[in-house]
Amino acid sequence: MNTRIFLSFPHLGGNEMQYINEAFAESWVVPLGPNVDEFEKRLESYLNAPNVVALSAGTAALHLGLVELGVTAGDEVVCQSFTFAASANPVKYQGAHPVFVDSEPDTWNMDPDALERAITDRKRATGRHPKAIVVVHLYGMPAKMDEIMAIARRYGIPVLEDAAEALGSTYKGRKCGTIGDFGALSFNGNKIITTSGGGALICPNSEAAKHVKFLATQAREPMPYYYHKEIGYNYRLSNISAGIGCGQMEHIAERVSRRREIHSLYARELGNLPGITVHSEPDADAVSNFWLTTILLDDKLPFSPEELRLTLEASNIESRRLWRPMNMQPVYADAPFYGDGCAERLFDRGLCLPSGSILTDDEIARVIDCIKNYYQSK
Ligand SMILES: *Cc1c(COP(=O)(O)O)cnc(C)c1O
Repeated sequence: MNTRIFLSFPHLGGNEMQYINEAFAESWVVPLGPNVDEFEKRLESYLNAPNVVALSAGTAALHLGLVELGVTAGDEVVCQSFTFAASANPVKYQGAHPVFVDSEPDTWNMDPDALERAITDRKRATGRHPKAIVVVHLYGMPAKMDEIMAIARRYGIPVLEDAAEALGSTYKGRKCGTIGDFGALSFNGNKIITTSGGGALICPNSEAAKHVKFLATQAREPMPYYYHKEIGYNYRLSNISAGIGCGQMEHIAERVSRRREIHSLYARELGNLPGITVHSEPDADAVSNFWLTTILLDDKLPFSPEELRLTLEASNIESRRLWRPMNMQPVYADAPFYGDGCAERLFDRGLCLPSGSILTDDEIARVIDCIKNYYQSK
């Protein structure tokens, strides 16, 4: 049997253990510590943005972003419907309600027109504008940020970017996650870099970053005893995990360029098969990290994305269906939705291909051969 090809497997750089060993040598086996400070510094320098706070997960970063934006019980928050559930669930943690907005077909991200319709319609329905907007750069593809920020500013609504999949992607030269009011990153095992589990919140200024650190460490007031004026969380990244992150950041540029290279290989080999479209950047404004290369299958093809997935699986190749939109999830059945079914159609026709930076050209060729052979047999 062929060795298994995974969708997005951790890619270690080699020095991760060194940072962990240093932490052990100095007994920094705790949340916070020198690796956390260093990891934040490396992220800030890479993102060209100060005020990055390392946290225990991307989900924690999204949650604290909403807290900082003042989202509380009963508020509505506009959220891209085409995403992973972790973009929307923190809205519920706050007792607030998500309002889902469809994607547009160029980037697969939030449709600016549907966003504006949602904002004005919610004002009509509830007498209030939504409290915040969560926009996602899905699969690493930058959303149409100029249009979205212009609408957000017109109505005075802050924007939280879910850049969990988009570390290293840029929009008009600016790193994704640094364009909105807050930006969330994830360092889960399957993302661009891993800390085994972790995330970060990119904050607009040093006061916000300071307050996020305070909330993430149980909101303990500077007193000789434990004294609390706000609800806190235990969301800080551990110094051990941050050590992995420091090692990972030594190679971030190579990791992003390798994922882009893998996308080009797929685009070159699959892009000319009639009925198959490799999702690519719509224009020069957007530079995707291509966290995952995704394809769309025309509904005139004699096989479905699910049949292709099972075919790849039979050759020990992991692929994955696209995210099932939040407006199609039972848990969000009652949430308002604005759109015309774009994300639903994408979900129906799309597939994510193995894209990890650790994959060799031979492994990518194996995936391509498997798809081509199946295509030609049909
Ligand atoms: C991975 C991911 C998250 C959550 O990040 P975790 O670190 O796993 O908590 C949020 N949003 C999107 C779009 C993601 O892909």
